[in-house]
Amino acid sequence: GGGLLVRGLRKRLGGRDVVAGIDLDVAPGELVSLLGPSGCGKTTTLRMVAGFLPVDDGTVAMGGRDVTDTGPERRPSAMVFQNYALWPHMTVTQNVAFPLRTRRVPKQQTAERVRAALELVGLSHHATSKPTAISGGEQQRVALARAVVQEPDVLLLDEPLSNLDAKLRVSVRDEIRRIQQRLGITTVIVTHDQDEALSVSDRIAVMHDGRIEQIAAPAELYARPATEFVASFIGSTSAVGGRFAIGVDSRPGDTVLVRPEQVVLCDDSPLTATVSRVLMRGHFAEVVLRADDDELRAFVSGPPPSVGHAVGVRLGDVLVYREGVLVGGAR
Ligand code: ADP
Ligand code: MG
Repeated sequence: GGGLLVRGLRKRLGGRDVVAGIDLDVAPGELVSLLGPSGCGKTTTLRMVAGFLPVDDGTVAMGGRDVTDTGPERRPSAMVFQNYALWPHMTVTQNVAFPLRTRRVPKQQTAERVRAALELVGLSHHATSKPTAISGGEQQRVALARAVVQEPDVLLLDEPLSNLDAKLRVSVRDEIRRIQQRLGITTVIVTHDQDEALSVSDRIAVMHDGRIEQIAAPAELYARPATEFVASFIGSTSAVGGRFAIGVDSRPGDTVLVRPEQVVLCDDSPLTATVSRVLMRGHFAEVVLRADDDELRAFVSGPPPSVGHAVGVRLGDVLVYREGVLVGGAR
């Protein structure tokens, strides 16, 4: 299959630049998540990539072919909608067969491809069920089967897990990744859930106000968030101030942030703080440390210190932002 190339994508809706110039390269077989808060323009971007919404400006190319002025059914892409959009009066098989019927694929071939798609998502036993008779997770897999049965070069999924409960979300998530890797489909997943993006993606594009702030592999994004927005949106951070900031290489007006696992308790540090709270998180504890009016959060594995005790603190990697942009600290 081919890759996806998006250049200068723009959309103005309701008097506002909802998509304000998006560039995105997805390599053949790569999975990229479009991650950002609600309202930042993810769905609008995906709908333009799929061809359901005309672009105001910019281009979309799939497998090296410009498809900007092509309808969705003529693009080598398939989309899974947030609400699944299954036909309630049709069986699971009829739903999955639908896009092949509209393309006049011969009956015999349709039957074989639908059977294979249902087997791929583990739903062969529900072939004759109606969507209303199966669970939300199963409906999501029908929607996925209806997309992959088209043998698309590019698979587009809009918040595929948002209607599922927490436990199901993890299993369907792993299932989507397994199928995507097995078929080697170029994939874009839209999500507002950082855990989802971090766990399935080859790369993550973090969106904010209609723009991509950073696109990078999950580990890189976490370790070196390019902007203050990305740092606060992915993982957790504490603001480093007052006595905690002594010795940090920064200027007045900079924002200094630290990840909780980079806050280390050690007896021999000249920097001391008081333990103000301890929250058990399972295999580790989140410890809130206070020095005067400043607080830091630390992740501590092993026995946590007691509330009220003084402890030595050392900071590992910090993140220094000037005008919202990373200028130092991270290694
Ligand atoms: P996301 O998927 O990231 O939550 P959307 O792309 O759905 O965001 O929407 C981005 C913004 O554009 C939202 O503020 C939304 O209200 C607005 N928007 C979307 N569609 C329209 C429309 N047809 N008319 C006016 N505003 C719209
Ligand atoms: Mg959306």
